[in-house]
Amino acid sequence: MRIGIPAEIRPGETRVAATPETVKKLAARHQVLVGAGAGIKASIPDAAYEAAGATIVDAATALGADMVLKVRSPDSAERAQMRAGTVLVGMLNPFDTENLAAMASSGLTAFALEAAPRISRAQSMDVLSSQANIAGYKAVMLAANTYGRFMPMLMTAAGTVKAARVLIMGVGVAGLQAIATAKRLGAVIEASDVRPPVKEQVESLGAKFIDVPFLTDEEREIAKGSGGYARSMPADWMRRQAELVHERAKLADIIITTALIPGRKAPVLIAEETVQAMKPGSVIVDMAVEQGGNCPLTELGRTVIKHGVHIIGEPNLAALVAADASALYARNVLDFLKLVIDKDDKFIIDREDEIVRATLVCADGAVLRT
Ligand code: NAD
Repeated sequence: MRIGIPAEIRPGETRVAATPETVKKLAARHQVLVGAGAGIKASIPDAAYEAAGATIVDAATALGADMVLKVRSPDSAERAQMRAGTVLVGMLNPFDTENLAAMASSGLTAFALEAAPRISRAQSMDVLSSQANIAGYKAVMLAANTYGRFMPMLMTAAGTVKAARVLIMGVGVAGLQAIATAKRLGAVIEASDVRPPVKEQVESLGAKFIDVPFLTDEEREIAKGSGGYARSMPADWMRRQAELVHERAKLADIIITTALIPGRKAPVLIAEETVQAMKPGSVIVDMAVEQGGNCPLTELGRTVIKHGVHIIGEPNLAALVAADASALYARNVLDFLKLVIDKDDKFIIDREDEIVRATLVCADGAVLRT
């Protein structure tokens, strides 16, 4: 099979879907065609891919392969260079119905890796986790860089400096890594989430959990989430959470928000009145910015100062750690390929496999997801 790895062309996308490590494994069984310069932004020169067994080709040749490995969905110009029947593997945004329809009408057989179920067998191919982990780390790095004070407590001859207070809203994969990273920098950390098991995880990392009690069975039930993901909480619980968060935000120096509900607009957790009540010079990193943001004042792709607070709306944090983000993503992809390539090196669709079934979003000209 000819496997193509084109350079990503979306603005700000620095990652690449294969590395010399994964190319070496693929090239042992397949012809691997890497687009010229595909790895440059992730510090991987073409020569490294060649040494791993790939052929360096132009974009059209990489996109014209039998199977194309990508980070992001192809745009219309890229789709035009792909053939009907091409197998596409990538982070294809399974909730973007317009994009799914476009890929289906181009005749692509498309696998959206974000749609993999959260079962143990899928962990090694879980792109959401590998990328969120990196993004959570980078969010703290950006916050520390913008914040005009120290993160750790310091006792010096010139006096004592207090440790920064960090508030993490939403403690999934990104939030847990943000807590761990801020902790390593010496901050004092509090965190909030809707899902009850998170409390123990937060405390085990040495942070304090902000408990918003459940007052009804309905609240308790919704808070359990579904498939490992959160669901939208009832308005009354959200109001009580906002009141508590408002008080904690007044004391915080840095807030990192990561709260997401799959396929929905991100919940608003830091209202304008809360930003207004924060200390001048504090920093918010809104990791949910691409889903509308957890703070209504966040602006996509910009850092703005509102009511004296720096609000960072960087959309693709994992791409700011291009080399490691690519390395982990490429391993996720390689692991996924084991499910769709048989022992005779042929492409197969095993619809009995729940990971294959969940990730297959387009085939035979149709969208397979509603
Ligand atoms: P996510 O990116 O979908 O959401 C981020 C966090 O925001 C979640 O923890 C969610 O509960 C929280 N959130 C949503 N609404 C909120 C609100 N109103 N207030 C506060 N927080 C809110 O989540 P994720 O990082 O994808 O992880 C979700 C869970 O799935 C985690 O517990 C993770 O460990 C688990 N997980 C399991 C597997 C597996 O078993 N294979 C794989 C990956 C992740």
